Amino acid sequence: MYPKFTENERDHYKKALAGGRKIKHETPEQEYVYRSKTFKECSKCAENKKLTEFDFNCSGRDQFNKDGYRHHRPECKKCKKKASSGKQQAKKIAKEMGISYKAPHGIKCGICDKKKKMVFDHCHEKNIFRGYLCDCCNRSLGCFRDNIDGIEPVINYLHKCCPMEVENKLQEILLNLKKKNKIKKASKELNEESKNKRGKRTS
Ligand SMILES: [Zn+2]
Ligand SMILES: [Zn+2]
Repeated sequence: MYPKFTENERDHYKKALAGGRKIKHETPEQEYVYRSKTFKECSKCAENKKLTEFDFNCSGRDQFNKDGYRHHRPECKKCKKKASSGKQQAKKIAKEMGISYKAPHGIKCGICDKKKKMVFDHCHEKNIFRGYLCDCCNRSLGCFRDNIDGIEPVINYLHKCCPMEVENKLQEILLNLKKKNKIKKASKELNEESKNKRGKRTS
């Protein structure tokens, strides 16, 4: 049994065939047989899953890859669903806090300071707004699974070549982070103290 394919899906194959394109399968049903036997690693959960557990990637201009197979999304359907519901939740909370989904004009990227193609970024663990990022940094972060575990192999890789430089830099980063955290904590305490004082005066 095949799932129901939309006319839109069928059109991709028809158009490709009409255009003389060499594609591996002539209908989505034919391709389904191949997809249910072929595995791919999900970019998010890293599980090896059948291609039928991935959506087609329709965002690109070309629906077929150079070998004539349909493009699939890098993340599985399950992860895609989870991510979109997480994003909806982050959007909702942000709205309640008065944070707009559309990046305010002139705002800088939270990573590189550039101002090009800014997007709303959210933490995929806590599902809360994290900041605005440029499209490039947002995509790069996605490639590294959006978390520190994804970045660790990159550090390990760079460490192989220049161990001292990487270790010194990591120490510097850690010190700076601790400093920033201390300042943040101190200003929070100061804020609370002045709030308490004001509260006492009014009571
Ligand atoms: Zn997945
Ligand atoms: Zn950036």
